[in-house]
Amino acid sequence: MKIVEYSRSLQWVGDLRCNQCNGLTPAWRSSGMSQCFPHFYCDTCSNVIHRASDQRLVWSDKSRSILEQITNTLPKCSCGGQFAANCGPNCKHCHAEIAIVRDAVEYLHNPNMIVIDGACTYSDEREPYMVRIVE
Ligand SMILES: [Zn+2]
Ligand SMILES: [Zn+2]
Repeated sequence: MKIVEYSRSLQWVGDLRCNQCNGLTPAWRSSGMSQCFPHFYCDTCSNVIHRASDQRLVWSDKSRSILEQITNTLPKCSCGGQFAANCGPNCKHCHAEIAIVRDAVEYLHNPNMIVIDGACTYSDEREPYMVRIVE
């Protein structure tokens, strides 16, 4: 798989703090201008999917029924898990979920896609790639 490296010095690279173990997980976050919405995390690993076809559905609206319509069509992740609403990436130390999705309907319009070090992003417009945070 293609690997995209982001330097730690970039503005959009930081650390997510885990509520369970207090450990830090390096992550890249897309800017608000990236329009990476909606995006959904795997329920098992930290991979994330962002599809233009979903964006057309939520562009001018967001609701529980649109969310259900989208989640019904979300594919399985390469790890065997399932992309789903209400899931977040996992701490790289203790693997607890980092709860970044508080309200799945509101989250439909969140353009800031967080991809942790080593996670893969999937799309209906381009090849998947893995994010690596480098020093
Ligand atoms: Zn997965
Ligand atoms: Zn942890």
